[in-house]
Parts: sequence; structure tokens; C-alpha cells
Amino acid sequence: MGKMPQVQEADAPVADTNQMMSADARDHQLQKMATRELDIIVIGGGITGAGIVWDAALRGMDAGLIEMADFASGTSSRSTKLVHGGLRYLKQGAFKLVREVGAERKLLHERLPHLVEPISMLLPIYRGGTYGYYMSAIGIAIYDHLADVSHTERRRMYRRKHTIELEPLLKHEGLRGAGLYTEYRTDDARLTLEILKTAAACGANVCNYARVEDFLYKKGKAVGVHVVDMMSGERYTIYARKIVNATGPWVDDLRQLDKSLDDKRLLLTKGVHLVVPHKRLPIRQAVYFDAPDGRMIFAIPRSGKTYIGTTDTVYEGDRANPMVTREDADYLIDALNKVFSTVGLQMADVEAAWAGLRPLIYEADKSPSEISRRDEIFVSESGLISIAGGKLTGFRRMAEKVVNLVAQQLEDETGVIYPPSTTDRVKISSGVTGMGDKGMERSRVGELHQDVYSEFLERAAGRGIAADDASGLWSRYGVNADMILRYYDEDDSGERLMKAELRYCVDHEMTVSAVDFLLRRTGWMLFDRARAERLCSSVIHYMTDRFAWDDARIALEWSRLRLEWRMHTVQDGDDT
Ligand code: FAD
Repeated sequence: MGKMPQVQEADAPVADTNQMMSADARDHQLQKMATRELDIIVIGGGITGAGIVWDAALRGMDAGLIEMADFASGTSSRSTKLVHGGLRYLKQGAFKLVREVGAERKLLHERLPHLVEPISMLLPIYRGGTYGYYMSAIGIAIYDHLADVSHTERRRMYRRKHTIELEPLLKHEGLRGAGLYTEYRTDDARLTLEILKTAAACGANVCNYARVEDFLYKKGKAVGVHVVDMMSGERYTIYARKIVNATGPWVDDLRQLDKSLDDKRLLLTKGVHLVVPHKRLPIRQAVYFDAPDGRMIFAIPRSGKTYIGTTDTVYEGDRANPMVTREDADYLIDALNKVFSTVGLQMADVEAAWAGLRPLIYEADKSPSEISRRDEIFVSESGLISIAGGKLTGFRRMAEKVVNLVAQQLEDETGVIYPPSTTDRVKISSGVTGMGDKGMERSRVGELHQDVYSEFLERAAGRGIAADDASGLWSRYGVNADMILRYYDEDDSGERLMKAELRYCVDHEMTVSAVDFLLRRTGWMLFDRARAERLCSSVIHYMTDRFAWDDARIALEWSRLRLEWRMHTVQDGDDT
């Protein structure tokens, strides 16, 4: 058997007291990885890589992960932020997949109720639309059954009159009724971070802002990677028995580097989202509606805003910085105004925007929307394992598949037997103590979460923290928010709550730049732009003190912030 780490069983919280993911520990993490031969090195710190390193570490493998920018800075912070039940897969007849993603959704909600939360989704049905009334009724009923949706969350069908009562903003003309079902909203970047923190607590070494530049070979087999620390310029060589390429939109670059890129390639498609004030699009629940070209679009309320997405267009531009063009935004605004005809949404209403790239597996003769979102593993002659495609929702199962393969290969080569995956039964960082018991009633999970959450709100109120701020902390950090309260108690200077949160993110989430904090740790650059603008100098000030930044570094931080503001705004021009 491989050596086993301290597995956190369901009733033991993942104590976030270690500082494995402290920004101060980055050098140490890289040095540690460079001083031994790992069982597995994962390239790419999005949700796919995070899931793989977590599963591997839990099985007792000596595991490491390298991310060239910030964790989740690729597609994993740019999705629609839904843990999908997979209604669209039903249309493609993929029943097994619907069952699978339904189970994943349930599991993630039970472990992380603060981060994967149910929302009502209205599917309006128009004459001549994608879904007819009876097809929708039957479809959603099958979906509820396959995805094991709880009774309280099962779908309801409404006739026209009640649909208008539910959502008065919908265009009345041609409206036949609606289905109301449950989807789960998440924060993709935070989910990725919590998985990485859980992996680090199980002994994995992880490091951001470190780029894999090349592979090392011995007798034609890939045996390691050359890594450059993007912060210090230091170079490292990391040896590993197995190398996994989980670089999403960059998967083919690494396959190219490995000289194993063949006819099976990725097709990148871009999807954009726009954020508008909720009062400009005051929908009462999320809505999933038809665009004139037959594609489906979401409008989702969140934190006093509504976000709308998404598009699906073939993309060949800069992968690190895809932009939201005027054409992308026009498409979404037009589609929205057709269904919410009295709203009259305009470009000037857009407060923020983001674009993400889907790493799909190319299929000849299919349009971007028709290409399957399935995942696929490629193993090259050198032994490089690449994983492409897939969804945020299915990350745990994808990881299990990859680590099963790695475990089998290691067993064949070394005789060491690794146990099966246990990621379906252990606690995830930030999850509430006592949750995740496989047999626990869902209502009991909800009660427990509510109790622990209420107690947290009381502790925060006792310190004079506003209820909104406290619930924001809880939704971002779950039980780890208590550590932020502790930091809050140790400081009595201005902006102490923001500084306590930032200190937590530096100490426990490898936050090394202002953008990491304002965009991916807190989401403020997307959903609370005014707050992000108000706080950015204080954030840079705190980080300057903490990391002893010189003038050049401070200037770099400001220029990064300016670039990100621009990338998260609608641009004139095209994708080139
Ligand atoms: P990424 O998150 O892109 O991670 C790859 C990482 O590899 C990057 O961070 C990159 O910096 C790093 N990297 C690249 N090269 C190197 C190197 N040489 N060295 C080190 N690191 C490197 N899924 C859902 O389940 N629900 C949704 O609502 C949903 N909506 C979506 C909406 C859009 C618009 C898009 C584009 C996707 C959506 N998806 C959704 C799909 C989901 O977001 C992706 O499947 C998932 O995020 C892909 O994660 P990943 O880890 O494979 O890739």
C-alpha cells in the first residue's frame, strides 16, 4: 500500500490552521518539490488540476501541483458559476451523465452548502421556442428523477398566468407557461481554492505563479519538468514518476512541447458574461431563456447584481486575456431585450464583464454549441497524461478517472498498491463540521449548516460587524471565516475587516497580488466594483508592508490592476 496521509473523515473538520498555502511558503513549496522524486506532478491549477492533486494526495501519493499564474485564473474563474444538473445533456439523450452530474451536485452541496447553493431557475416556454410545454414538463421530470432531486426542489410547471405572476418582466406575447426547477450556484474560483487547500492539508505541495517550461526525458519517457518561478525568476527541476497535463485551454501547448500533438486537438470557444445592477434587470429568480438563434442564455441574480451569459464562438486569440468585445455584449443585450422587452437594457448598464475559454475536444462538422462537453484522457508515448474537456461540475469524477490511471501505472511499475478514491466521503476545506456523512438526511445537513452559520453571525455581530459583511465572509470562507474574525480582533486600525480577510488570503490561499484578492478571492471586481475601486489602494498598501514591495513592484501591481479592469469591461474591437 502507498503511505496514507491523515485522512479527514466526514465528522472531522479540515482544520485550516496549517500554513501550507501561505504566500510566504511559495519558495519552500517549490524547493520541497525539487528535492525528491514525486509520485505525481500536476500542471495547471484550475479545477481539473485541483481535483487531481486532491484525489492523489488523499490516496497517499506524494503529489505536487504547479500553476503558471494565479490558481483558477484560467477558465475556472470565468464560467457561468453553476454546478449544473445537466438539463441540456438530457436533450442529447445522455441519461447516465445526467445521473452522474446530479449525484456530484448533491455531494458538493452537502459538503459546501455555503458555496454550492440551490437557486430557482425559471424556464419560460414560448410558442416556437426550443422547449415545448409538454416536452419541458416531461424532460424536467425525468431530469429530477435521474439527478435524484429532493422532493422540495422538484420542478413545477406553470401556465401562462402564473408564469407572469412569477416573472412579470417576461415578454407576454407567445408565452405559454414555464418550468421552475432547481440549479446550484457557486463561485468557481473559490471552489478551486478550497479543493487546493484540502489537497494541501492532505500533504500535497502546490504553488502558483510557477510555470512549467519544458519536460525532462530519460530513454524517451517524461521524468520531470523544468519550472520557473514567475515571481523571483528562480528555476527548479522537479522529478515525478507521473506527469499530468491539466492545463485546460493550454493542453495542446504542452502536448506540442512533448511532441505528441496529433490529429485529436482542442477547439477553444469563448463564452462571455455581463454584470448589470439588479435594479436594471430586477428578475425574481434566475431565468434560462432562448436567444433568437436557438441557443440558451442564463440571467442570474447575485449579490445585488444580475449576470447574463453566455456566448459560444470559436476563439484563436490570446488565451490568458480573452476580451469581451462589443459584438459579444450586443448579442447578449439583444437576446435579453427580446425576452424582457420592457427592460430596455443598454451597454451603459454593464458594470463588469468576463470572458472564458472552453477547452473542447474538436469534432468535425459540429458547431461550437453542438460539441460535446465530455472529457478525454490522452496518454502520449513519453507517458505524459493529458486531460481535456469536461465541466466544473464533474471535476471530482474526472480526477478520480485520472488518478485511477496513475495508480494503475504506478502499481504496474513499482508494485505499490494505492487505495480507491475517497474524495466522495471526506470533508472539504471551509465545509461545516459534521457534514458530509454519506447517509445524512439532506434536511439535517441544512439544519446543521443553518445552526453553525447563525452562531457565526452572532459572533460577528458581537464585534460590531455588519450583517451583510458577515454573510459575505461566510459565503466566501465557510467555517474558515472564524479565522478572519480572529485576525480582526488582533488589529484596530482602519479597514480592519478587509485587512483581516486579506491577511487570511495571504496566509492560507497564496494570495500574492492585489488582483488575486480583489478578483478571485473576493469576486469584488465582478460583483462589487465600487468596493473594489474604493479598497484597491488599501490592499496595495497592506501588501506593500507585508511583502516589503519596492516602487517597481508597486507600479507593476497598479498596471496589473489597470489591465484587469480593462479585461473586465466591454472592449471596442475584435478578438485579435
Ligand atoms: P483552467 O481553469 O483553464 O486551468 C488550467 C490552468 O493551467 C490555468 O490556470 C493555466 O494558467 C495553467 N497553465 C497553463 N499552462 C501552464 C504551464 N505551462 N505551467 C503551469 N500552469 C499552466 N462548467 C460547469 O460545470 N458549470 C458552468 O456553469 C460552466 N460554465 C462555463 C461557462 C463558460 C463561458 C466556460 C468557458 C466554461 C464553463 N464551464 C462550466 C466549464 C468549466 O469552467 C471548465 O470545464 C473548467 O473550468 C476547466 O478547468 P481546467 O482546470 O481544466 O482549466
